[in-house]
Amino acid sequence: MDVFESRESEVRSYSRHWDAVFDSAAGSTMHSEDGRTFLDFFAGAGALNYGHNNPVLLRPLIDYLLSGAVVHSLDMKTPAKRRFLETFQELILIPRQLDYRVMFPGPTGTNCVEAALKLARKVTGRTHILSFTNAFHGMTLGSLSVTGNSMKRHGAGVPLTNTSSVPYDGYLDGPVPDFLWLRQALEDSGSGLDRPAAVIVETVQGEGGLRAARASWLRGLAELCREHDVLLIVDDVQAGCGRTGTFFSFEEAGITPDIVCLSKSISGFGLPMALTLFRPELDVWSPGEHNGTFRGHNPAFVTATAALEHYWRDDRFAADVAGLATRLHEGLSRIAEATEGSVVRGRGLLTGIFYADPEAARRIAAESYSRGLLVETSGPRSEVVKTMPPLTTTAEELQRGLDILADAAEHVTGAPVTLTTVA
Ligand SMILES: *Cc1c(COP(=O)(O)O)cnc(C)c1O
Repeated sequence: MDVFESRESEVRSYSRHWDAVFDSAAGSTMHSEDGRTFLDFFAGAGALNYGHNNPVLLRPLIDYLLSGAVVHSLDMKTPAKRRFLETFQELILIPRQLDYRVMFPGPTGTNCVEAALKLARKVTGRTHILSFTNAFHGMTLGSLSVTGNSMKRHGAGVPLTNTSSVPYDGYLDGPVPDFLWLRQALEDSGSGLDRPAAVIVETVQGEGGLRAARASWLRGLAELCREHDVLLIVDDVQAGCGRTGTFFSFEEAGITPDIVCLSKSISGFGLPMALTLFRPELDVWSPGEHNGTFRGHNPAFVTATAALEHYWRDDRFAADVAGLATRLHEGLSRIAEATEGSVVRGRGLLTGIFYADPEAARRIAAESYSRGLLVETSGPRSEVVKTMPPLTTTAEELQRGLDILADAAEHVTGAPVTLTTVA
């Protein structure tokens, strides 16, 4: 028994199915102490969109740390924060005609969700929040109250209140028109649904099984929210920062959420950082009303700025990601076709294969690991094999990952897979 097993809490999870002690990493590759090499199609659950130790980000980070500049500063003014805000404004907000105030709510994804929920309640004076079936928004109480997974909800230990869950796109498998129930419930004063402050949604359900909302569904939701004066919060913690091909995952749908949550890959380097963005009219916070010690991590500002400057100055990176996404989708479709009842789910480089038998998904992920590929599962029964390579993955690495996955799937299901090699 090693110290991880003897000393670390039972709550640990990834280290249970990946026994390697990872000691170095570069780009889409990780190495373990015992000399194994892994292709990383997990990418820090979406925190490593630009790969491990990306030199474009590492160099300015090292220079910053060696320069004697300020590392910790709560929300005081620093040149690093100024540069981040100016760059985010110039390269992300202005070109997309998004006029958002930027709030630093604390370092993690759940922090930016908590801030969004608090703000929506404060602005509207209402308490109720609507979320979607199989949503995942984080592990603190507010975020858990809008999360679907019953095991995770149970961990709260207290009732999770003032929220209701409504069907996500595809949940009812088509026969019921989208928003039939929600529209009716909002319009009927006898429906028993308290008028909500906000609706919180992921455009692709990263943890909850990789269902992707259609652009038309998202537009319908935005319209419904507008009609009923309900705020729309998009949780782009996992699907944002280029994961689906555009910087924000909702750009394709052409909607403008009232509030946006960003974290995971916003620092670009895997350093903790989160943002809550909202329309200026919603900025009703009193100074210090939502506070926190780690809201201004300057090393994260430095790498975040470098990532925006290097990858988001023009459309080239987005075009590369779109090319990779097409190849990934193509390969996953071949693998899914081999098994009855399997389908590809997701969007962009947040994509996976649904298996009717969750055991198949679990075993494919395990067989992939033993063949040198890190892939997770997603969904309430872990029934989806999830592929989330860094956006900087090369076409050759992508193909190698698909080959391993096809081999693992063949081994588990016994059904031969023919991958057409995309040159
Ligand atoms: C990961 C995630 C969160 C929570 O982020 P943490 O940094 O783990 O707190 C919230 N929402 C979504 C969609 C996520 O994927």
